Amino acid sequence: MLEIRNLVVQIEDNRILNGLNLTVHDGEVAAIMGPNGSGKSTLSYVIAGKEDYEVLDGEIVLDGQNLLEMEPDQRAAAGVFLAFQYPLEIPGVGTMTFLKAALNAQRKARGEPELTTPELMKRVNAVGEKLEISRDFLKRALNVGFSGGEKKRMEILQMALLEPKFCILDETDSGLDIDALRIVSEGVNALRSPDRSFLVITHYQRLLNHIVPDTVHVMSSGRIVRSGGKELALELEANGYADYRQQAEAA
Ligand code: ADP
Ligand code: MG
Ligand code: MG
Repeated sequence: MLEIRNLVVQIEDNRILNGLNLTVHDGEVAAIMGPNGSGKSTLSYVIAGKEDYEVLDGEIVLDGQNLLEMEPDQRAAAGVFLAFQYPLEIPGVGTMTFLKAALNAQRKARGEPELTTPELMKRVNAVGEKLEISRDFLKRALNVGFSGGEKKRMEILQMALLEPKFCILDETDSGLDIDALRIVSEGVNALRSPDRSFLVITHYQRLLNHIVPDTVHVMSSGRIVRSGGKELALELEANGYADYRQQAEAA
């Protein structure tokens, strides 16, 4: 479903991704692990279509569609969802207003009718309950004054509502206490399905005890240097990334 071939990306003359190859199949949960600075966030931004990144070579194809030729909103309509490492606080924009705008933008791009407020409320309440998000939060400005865990749950709420085909979670575990980690992981696990794939980016193995991946890829210096099953995460936890760093530097 998602196929990345020879992706080369730079920002301000710095090469960040150096010929990255990655395939994620339908229904697969793929974890990407790697040291800080290896380009994990850059990869997620480039898939989602954030500006500022110069793609020098390669392709990203989702279900036959070339994502690199699409605007960020078209990619979202095609089913790409990125949960941020640090969700933004947006003062002055109510959470419900934001959710409505996000959902309706997607529906518009797909030629579907807009959701009415009662329809939206019904959906949000149903999903919010599962994620233990209190209705008070939905009345507040987006993410403003939310704890780390609350922001992450809000991201999972957005993800559940948008029903994406390809979900990217960039270090969703950072700053989460164990209860928030459980809620977020359960939320993600509930969304696992044969026609939805996940790219779970994490520096630590801990998250992968909760969201058990099908495949694990090691990223170092802007490329995937090793791929394996879920046991690879345990090996990394035990041995660290030093070997991979040397390997990547030698290459
Ligand atoms: P990771 O998520 O694996 O920690 P990043 O993708 O955030 O890695 O960063 C990879 C490299 O790209 C780092 O060396 C970082 O300093 C550099 N980088 C990321 N964003 C920018 C930017 N906006 N301008 C310049 N360098 C950047
Ligand atoms: Mg498909
Ligand atoms: Mg990062």
